[in-house]
Amino acid sequence: MVCRAFKVKLDRLIKDIRKNKIFGRVITVVYTIEFQKRGLPHAHIVLFFHHDDKYPTKEDINHILSVEIPNKENDPVYYEAVGKHIMHGPCGDLKKDSPCMESGKCIRHFPKRFFDSTTVDEDGYPIYRRREDGRTINKSGIDIDNQYVMPHNRKLLLKYRAHVNVEWCNQLRSIEYLFKYMNKGHDRVTASFYKSAATDAEEDDCDEVSMYYDCRYISPCEVAW
Ligand SMILES: [Zn+2]
Repeated sequence: MVCRAFKVKLDRLIKDIRKNKIFGRVITVVYTIEFQKRGLPHAHIVLFFHHDDKYPTKEDINHILSVEIPNKENDPVYYEAVGKHIMHGPCGDLKKDSPCMESGKCIRHFPKRFFDSTTVDEDGYPIYRRREDGRTINKSGIDIDNQYVMPHNRKLLLKYRAHVNVEWCNQLRSIEYLFKYMNKGHDRVTASFYKSAATDAEEDDCDEVSMYYDCRYISPCEVAW
């Protein structure tokens, strides 16, 4: 059922992008499906826009995506969807034992710093407007602010009710990075076989203890897919 719902949403999303032109004219759509460690399906999609339908300015970027919590009173439906699908964490100092924490730092670099306006650095990486406006959302019993919002598009979030992360990129380096991500291959696990403590006495006779296999990990969702 998870896979079927995902496929329906994915097909509709691609149709919205290509045929319904929700972001304008798109000349190429490239995507890959991966199954993450917990086994859930995930699509990485790269869009190439028509020359006249690109989004070159800071205002364009602010128009197509946001990394800020919406106003709870004016737009409660959007506020709830952001809380449910798009907030990262809590992690960092607020929750040091979060699964994304490694050596005291979040592997996805949250919480992010506040920025008053959107900028694009010299390497072509965008830094999105993430204002310190005092708005918070409660997640796992902790109030988190704009520092934990992932980039998203309001329309897509409300239509698909899913973790739809939308990023802007225009430089070759970012595109190379995306293609690398799209082709990173399957998750793998190293499995080992070992004897139970009860058979320790016969330790010397058994070679199987040191058998290790490098295995491809396939979740139930991926099997269904
Ligand atoms: Zn984190």
